[in-house]
Amino acid sequence: MTETTVTRRRLVLIGAGSAGLCMAIHLKKAGIEDFVILEKGTGVGGTWYHNTYPGAECDVQSHLYQFSFEQKNDWSQPYAGQKEILGYLNHCADTYDVRRHVQFGTTVETATWDEDADLWRITTVKGEGDVETIECQVLVSCLGMFNHLKWPTIPGIEDFGGDFFHSARWDHDIDLKDKRVAVIGLAASAIQFTPEIAKEVGELVLYQRTANWVVPKENKPHTQETLEKFCTDPSLVTKNRDEIYDVWNSLCTFTDKELLSQIEDTGMENLSLVNDPELREKLTPHHPFGCKRPLFSTLYYPIFNQDNVELVTEDIDQVTPTGVVSEGNAREFDVIIYATGFRTTRYLAAVEVTGSNGVNIKDAWEDGPQAYLGMSTTGFPNLFMLYGPNTNQGCILLMLERQVEYIMRQLGRMEDQKLAWIDIRKDVMDDFNVALQESLGKVEVWQAECGGDDYYRAGPNKRMVTNWPGTMDAFTDHIRKADPDTYNIEVSRKNTDAWV
Ligand SMILES: Cc1cc2nc3c(=O)[nH]c(=O)nc-3n(C[C@H](O)[C@H](O)[C@H](O)COP(=O)(O)OP(=O)(O)OC[C@H]3O[C@@H](n4cnc5c(N)ncnc54)[C@H](O)[C@@H]3O)c2cc1C
Repeated sequence: MTETTVTRRRLVLIGAGSAGLCMAIHLKKAGIEDFVILEKGTGVGGTWYHNTYPGAECDVQSHLYQFSFEQKNDWSQPYAGQKEILGYLNHCADTYDVRRHVQFGTTVETATWDEDADLWRITTVKGEGDVETIECQVLVSCLGMFNHLKWPTIPGIEDFGGDFFHSARWDHDIDLKDKRVAVIGLAASAIQFTPEIAKEVGELVLYQRTANWVVPKENKPHTQETLEKFCTDPSLVTKNRDEIYDVWNSLCTFTDKELLSQIEDTGMENLSLVNDPELREKLTPHHPFGCKRPLFSTLYYPIFNQDNVELVTEDIDQVTPTGVVSEGNAREFDVIIYATGFRTTRYLAAVEVTGSNGVNIKDAWEDGPQAYLGMSTTGFPNLFMLYGPNTNQGCILLMLERQVEYIMRQLGRMEDQKLAWIDIRKDVMDDFNVALQESLGKVEVWQAECGGDDYYRAGPNKRMVTNWPGTMDAFTDHIRKADPDTYNIEVSRKNTDAWV
């Protein structure tokens, strides 16, 4: 039986991943308790809750890939695995008493701005299809970039008689031991899980469309002695964090030609771990490093020296009830794993969002998602996005902290000046985006051909909608210097008592 209820909150956050947690913790630190986080999953952690494939781990060292306000000193290895990161995010939720604000198993379907009442009306579905409407003054999207699974458009996928799943929703009930397994798509997730499953499967066939750069990543667990040092003197972790930050801050612009060339050299050295020259040739990338999302692994290339691993570079024709056919060659499998990634460029358009004058966000973004500083988009008052358009850069947790800092400032201003709503001025957003696209256009490696257009780009003009073009420092500067006059504002006429 379905039930319909209506509730009211000052703020609604969508998503309880790192962004939702970071926002919630800052709200609570500011004494704001009247908010709810709507989360479709049954736990906190987002990326690290959903992606449980074998070998899943971060690519930014854990001393940096953690919140600055909740430093963990005893990360077991330089780049922590999924379970340890998820444990850390759960620890953050508990330490700051966030969990009681989360409504789990609740999927947000629509968000509509009511201009007469100056509020957002959000509809959700949960459980048996119960529908809840929540009204709020401020809506914060914490949806992340990696929530919409991308499946390939290969004919016959549904006809396959064996087991199949997407690597981002790993099916742990399927035993891969001694099975004939195909992996379709060889990028960030595949290079992490293939070395793990290659140890147990009977036959592993890897279908590659484009050879990617894979640069070395040493990840030996910290010794007990090192861990004791970090725990007794946390300033060592902070120092390490600062050093890692400097490295990522220089790398992430992808403009330092000398650095990029050094990285390509280490990539080629890494590739030399493959014994067979013919295979090495097939695995050699033909685009500049940085053109696609960088990949890091020291474990990936050696699997090609194993007898049970085969690389196929033929185009896939179709999936049949028993296997995969590529350029006329049929191979039979028990399991197919689709490691084809995510639809990264949808952002808030993944939810049915309607702003002022009844404009749907998909129409507002017909040329691809855009925002001011990745957070505010014109015509959608009191809406903020975390990890929104053009904020993908360096260490995401750090970028998120800066965005939360900015949103807290806007909330403070709304409260002080008793504002019903704020809406980014169109001229400001447009100028910001013209300058942004100009800067993005100067990053040569992002203009190169590497077959990954739909990862970074969207809309008919193929605008780059995901990446921030400068350093993390530059992003911080923009956030801290942002001028409040960039917003159209409306002083409260109604509802004042309800929110302030
Ligand atoms: C395998 C993997 C490894 C990564 N490694 C790194 C790394 O090393 N360094 C780095 O900086 N970044 C890394 N990233 C990027 C990572 O996504 C971010 O670092 C960070 O976790 C983003 O957090 P988020 O809260 O913005 O999004 P997410 O963690 O994706 O959380 C979004 C949440 O929103 C929920 N949600 C989505 N739609 C709805 C809806 N309609 N209704 C309700 N809830 C909804 C989801 O269930 C999810 O819990 C990695 C990503 C992946 C996939």
